[in-house]
Amino acid sequence: MEGVKASLPQTLVREIESGLSSVESTCTALASHFSHNHVCFQLLQQLIEPGMTSCAKDRQTALDCKGEGNAAFGRASFKHALDCYTKGLRFISLDTQVDASHAATLLVNRAATLHRLELLDAAVQDCTRAIELQPDYAKAWYRRGRIQADLRNYENAIDDMKKVFSLESSVGGQKQVKQEMADLEILMSEMTVMDEASHMIPAVDSRKWEPRVMESVMDTSSTWTPEKQWGLSTEQNLEPGSLILQEAPYAAIILKACRNSHCHYCFGQLPANPMPCNTCAIPLYCTEACRDKALGCGSDRATGGSLHLQNDILSGEHKHECGGASWSAVLPTDAVLAARIFVRSQALGHLDNQLDGFCHHYENLSGMDKLELHVLAVVMANVLKCNSGEATDNVAAKLVLLIARVRANAMAIVSISSPDAAVPMTELSAPDVGSSTSTLLSIEQVKVAQAVYVKASRMNHACDPNVHVSFQSRCLSARTIKSVLAGAPLEISYGPQLGEMFYEDRQAWLRERYCFTCTCSACKHITHSDLLLIALHCSKASCEGVVPGPAVSPATESEAFQRTWQKQAQCLGCGTLVDVATASIAAKQSMKELERSDSSPLFWVLVGNFRSYKRCLWVFSGVCRIKSELSSPSAGKNLKVMVAAVLHLLGCCRDVLHSSSKQLARVEDFVAQVLCSADQPQDAISHCQTSIQILEQVYSQDHIAVANERLKLTSIAHAAGDTKCALLNLGIVDRIMRIHYGPHYSVMFPYIASLQQVLDKSGSFVKN
Ligand SMILES: [Zn+2]
Ligand SMILES: [Zn+2]
Ligand SMILES: [Zn+2]
Ligand SMILES: [Zn+2]
Repeated sequence: MEGVKASLPQTLVREIESGLSSVESTCTALASHFSHNHVCFQLLQQLIEPGMTSCAKDRQTALDCKGEGNAAFGRASFKHALDCYTKGLRFISLDTQVDASHAATLLVNRAATLHRLELLDAAVQDCTRAIELQPDYAKAWYRRGRIQADLRNYENAIDDMKKVFSLESSVGGQKQVKQEMADLEILMSEMTVMDEASHMIPAVDSRKWEPRVMESVMDTSSTWTPEKQWGLSTEQNLEPGSLILQEAPYAAIILKACRNSHCHYCFGQLPANPMPCNTCAIPLYCTEACRDKALGCGSDRATGGSLHLQNDILSGEHKHECGGASWSAVLPTDAVLAARIFVRSQALGHLDNQLDGFCHHYENLSGMDKLELHVLAVVMANVLKCNSGEATDNVAAKLVLLIARVRANAMAIVSISSPDAAVPMTELSAPDVGSSTSTLLSIEQVKVAQAVYVKASRMNHACDPNVHVSFQSRCLSARTIKSVLAGAPLEISYGPQLGEMFYEDRQAWLRERYCFTCTCSACKHITHSDLLLIALHCSKASCEGVVPGPAVSPATESEAFQRTWQKQAQCLGCGTLVDVATASIAAKQSMKELERSDSSPLFWVLVGNFRSYKRCLWVFSGVCRIKSELSSPSAGKNLKVMVAAVLHLLGCCRDVLHSSSKQLARVEDFVAQVLCSADQPQDAISHCQTSIQILEQVYSQDHIAVANERLKLTSIAHAAGDTKCALLNLGIVDRIMRIHYGPHYSVMFPYIASLQQVLDKSGSFVKN
């Protein structure tokens, strides 16, 4: 890309950067430069030619992967073998019979690996896939029979073995299979009725989930004002938790960081046996159903999930990218998303009117950004040439604004990750005070994809929003989190929320990313939440007043206020001037002391200024977790040292930080975690409670951050055997989750439901 920019004539660069000429004319000039310039031509070749990339199917790569996988399997490194076979499947095509048989072998080898990893359902699935490719592949039938036997599906196992018998030609082989069938018959006859009534609770797969009762969506209306352009408002009074929007994306794309961990269509976490695209080596899907939807074919195979396809035509969003060219893997995500939108709008016959209404802020972009958009647009126009009958420069001009629109309107799809997928919930079943495996539950979200929603993107930003957005696969749901009066605007937070980012950081972020200055109610005047982000203790010991920390300086406040905060801050309670700089230094000093008290490498991470606290604590908690997992004889001793250290740290923080400072909530939360690792859940409860009290002041009682902390408290109380406290907190978590995620939230958070079950059981036990 840099080479391309360097090849451009300076006059054209200036013309684009100044923005004085029309986008159409600069695009025409740039497109013409691309068609004559050698550097540009080479770049396009690299992006479009499948032969020049590693994104095309390639038998040799696939066979190399198989060899590496077999070697790993031989060494019993099953995880590595699994990755190798999956990579091999990515590169094998299904074009010829030879390739199909290679694919079947890779699938059976992967099934064998999954079998060893005890992922039996996935293993059966891979065998079935191999059989579909090559129906007379005895090894596939045999492997499936063995796995079915381990699953105690003896009838199916015997059926598979019968098939193996019919395919087996050698007498010795037939004899062996016969023996295995006889053994299976015996096992089947021994299976008692009790075995059949399996007590296993099947795991909930959110991908296959459909709500039992469709909630009704409240009426909203679009509004247009010159300042904010499009907005959305309610037509009636709404209670917290009202569903106001449910929408499938116009287009969506996975983020680069998640390409190997999440399905490229439904954005759910990939299973152990993902399926690749049949024609190129780029995407991975959780099932054939997702793959077919991405390619816009075979909707009959689709299992469930009609919710996220509601009002959605099967656009085949990957179809135009497929074939092994590298551009969709290499170019920036927002440009590739813009291409998906472009192709879809073409399929619909016109650039959708709804999309035309999207804001793009093109005029406000910097010259550098304008140039980048131009280059990307011309590249994309060349790439998409084959699909559209239009002239390249015409398409490029549309794409410049389309990419700008994507940047201004795309939303991040977040996926909720389970607290620790490796720890089965059954470990939580017994309130074992003695065990040190108390799992701390929390709500963690991962950004997995970028998507454009036509209606949802009409909602404007507020730093203290009244709407919360959540995702079920690709489908967006928006719910009110406060009472909203009829006619009032419905607003979401575009990123920085009150209580999470400082006033001026919020403003800077929004200006940089969305080109506007926020004038929401939380930005008009300094708020309680802003003050508490870093609130220092008053120097008068008896005073409980808040001393605003060094970061609070809203432009709307008086000049005098702004002058004082830099060195000194006034206690808002008694008016005493507190030397902020000294207080910060004192805090750092006391942490240095900690460092000296023990030379262990654990302690240096504690040293840091208040701004980077989160990071320090995060590192530290990571170290603690590893430490607690080590079952070395000295582990217990180390934990004691850590507990002492962390309590000392808490004391230092309490000296300088106000008792309602959010920074203190973080420290209290951390202390609770360390106490839990050190097997002192009873002591952890009060620290966790203090953290909750602070968070309720910084945010509100119903904020999701409070629910998260209360969920932690629930698991701590459970570990401490305090079922009453656990149930009380889980009740509050339940209320907050219903508001944010709706009545069916437990499908997204299955561990909350499991915890509820466990607690109900021990609760009734306590009563008896
Ligand atoms: Zn999927
Ligand atoms: Zn493909
Ligand atoms: Zn604001
Ligand atoms: Zn004071």
